[in-house]
Amino acid sequence: MSVSSSHPAASRNLKIGIVGLGPFAQFLSKTMIRQGHILRAASRTDYSNLCAQMGISFFRNVDELLEAENDVILICTSILSLSEVLQSLPLHRLKRPTLFVDVLSVKEHPRNVLLQVLPEESDVLCTHPMFGSDSGKDGWKDLNFMYERVRIRDEDTCSSFLQIFESEGCRMLEMSCEEHDKMAARSQFITHVIGRTLSEMEIQSTSIDTKGFETLVHLKENTVRLSFDLFSGLFLRNRFAQQEVCTSCLCFFL
Ligand code: NAP
Repeated sequence: MSVSSSHPAASRNLKIGIVGLGPFAQFLSKTMIRQGHILRAASRTDYSNLCAQMGISFFRNVDELLEAENDVILICTSILSLSEVLQSLPLHRLKRPTLFVDVLSVKEHPRNVLLQVLPEESDVLCTHPMFGSDSGKDGWKDLNFMYERVRIRDEDTCSSFLQIFESEGCRMLEMSCEEHDKMAARSQFITHVIGRTLSEMEIQSTSIDTKGFETLVHLKENTVRLSFDLFSGLFLRNRFAQQEVCTSCLCFFL
């Protein structure tokens, strides 16, 4: 793993086509728009009204999104739908070599699927912004951003994309997808398991909360705000998380 603080190439405004405009993509979009990038999106759900308010061009048809000459295609779908979504993309509509970036919370799985599905001329950057709308609500300074340059030939576009996070003050962590998944299984996944367990226990604030208990209530609230798809994906698509399974988490999956 290496922590980097700057990328040599000057950044430029990018045309970014988002696939999957769920809660996390909407959260990321606000910062990208503020930075001056041009956003387009396609999603299973019709987000036309939201996109009109946010200043994103929304395409009901993913063919049109891919034809729109994007510098970057940003994959923000759920972990469990990734294979299906990628395999249904009309990749022959791409008009030029394009950088594909994913933001999934597991990393070996998207790396493998992207390399399997994408044409050889497409660049691949696997990333995990290790924060969300709660931890990142007051800015992204000092929050972790993990990435692996899986297949990069267009350094300029890749650097400009990484600059989105670096310029907000993120801690840029370059590491392999395998290394990420190993560490995340012993940190992020456990956090979600404990949060979900606290939710099953129906813990609630009381008038005599200790600071420790307040932390548990906060953890529960933050964890259950995220989709169950995300939680399932952390387990089902990270081989190291499966090794972490203990009796207390089996109850979610049996
Ligand atoms: P999510 O439940 O993990 O994913 C929601 C997205 O997946 C939506 O765009 C949804 O499309 C799409 N989707 C789900 N099932 C689908 C299917 N069968 N076919 C096509 N599209 C499908 O929620 P999220 O929080 O927005 O997370 C998105 C991605 O970001 C995930 O991979 C997650 O691991 C990653 N991530 C999330 C966070 C976070 O704090 N939330 C942080 C870091 C990384 P529609 O909305 O169009 O229905």
